[in-house]
Amino acid sequence: MYDVVVIGAGASGLTTAMYTARANLKTLVIEKGIYGGQMTTTAEIENYSGFGLISGMELSQHMYDQAINQGVEYRYGEVVSVHDLYDTVEDLIAERNKTFAINLSNGERIESKAVVIATGVKHRKLGIKGEEALAGRGVSYCALCDGAFFKDKHVAVVGGGDSALEEANYLTQFADKVTIIHRRDKFKAQAILQDRVNKNDKIRMIMNAEVSQIIGMNKVESIFVKQENNGLEIMFDEDVDGIFVYVGLDPITEPFKANGILDDKGYVITNDRMETSIKGLFAVGDVRQKTVRQIATAVGDGAIAGVEVSKYLEELS
Ligand code: NAP
Repeated sequence: MYDVVVIGAGASGLTTAMYTARANLKTLVIEKGIYGGQMTTTAEIENYSGFGLISGMELSQHMYDQAINQGVEYRYGEVVSVHDLYDTVEDLIAERNKTFAINLSNGERIESKAVVIATGVKHRKLGIKGEEALAGRGVSYCALCDGAFFKDKHVAVVGGGDSALEEANYLTQFADKVTIIHRRDKFKAQAILQDRVNKNDKIRMIMNAEVSQIIGMNKVESIFVKQENNGLEIMFDEDVDGIFVYVGLDPITEPFKANGILDDKGYVITNDRMETSIKGLFAVGDVRQKTVRQIATAVGDGAIAGVEVSKYLEELS
């Protein structure tokens, strides 16, 4: 029986675990991919206080090492559901003597007194023709992973948020030409990122436009773009060797649908102690319903949850 099981090893999960381990709680982190979460697909991080510039991989490694050095257990596993368990009906009514069963895809069941959901988010898809068929053959959701394949080529980046502009800039290290395609006339990205793309000679922008189809036999060859221009809709095709999609993120909360803790977009609802409506079940980081999704806020959530989980367990005993 663990005191705390943290599901997900991104910035928020690793921070929570580091805090609970330091409070002498038997802590397990379960992760189905590699530790670091979204950080691992970010080439350069320059707004995490204390580090002027650090790669996502390096920061992930620091956070992982720090958690492990404090005594956190870490294992691979894919969580499919979490249930609260009670010894008796009286316990259920009084909400006491509760434990959680964490069920894994291999049929294993892990038990814990408290659970922290830190499963994060995944990249949203465009949902257009050609996207699925050409995924990995020119369609990508990770500039850090695939950017180097596009040396001296022309790539499109779709989206107008921080990710699209940050990664468009990064891609100019390899690509000869980067075309940002955004569906509005303004970007929503931070001003510093907008300045950077405006000043980058390799970047051009097509605004008020959407990609409607990705064309290619065995690899991406071109895209169909639909643009609104002075009230008129024009369609044209653009020759590109690759397309990077950065149109937002969706929460990874499929395993928690039955727990009744999600909002209508699938994010986990918590109070400011990071606790869900189920006592002992907490959530942190990008998976949580909140307004600012940054590494700093993920780490902040983790620190709060670490302290609040400790308090919850003290009250139990
Ligand atoms: P985001 O902020 O949700 O932006 C998504 C962009 O894609 C928006 O411009 C949106 O357009 C556009 N879009 C959505 N669906 C689309 C569709 N079907 N077709 C075309 N365009 C579509 O997502 P994000 O940029 O991935 O950022 C996610 C979170 O991570 C944000 O909180 C962000 O601040 C944070 N982040 C921070 C940093 C950093 O601090 N350095 C870096 C990366 C990400 P509209 O403008 O019309 O909605």
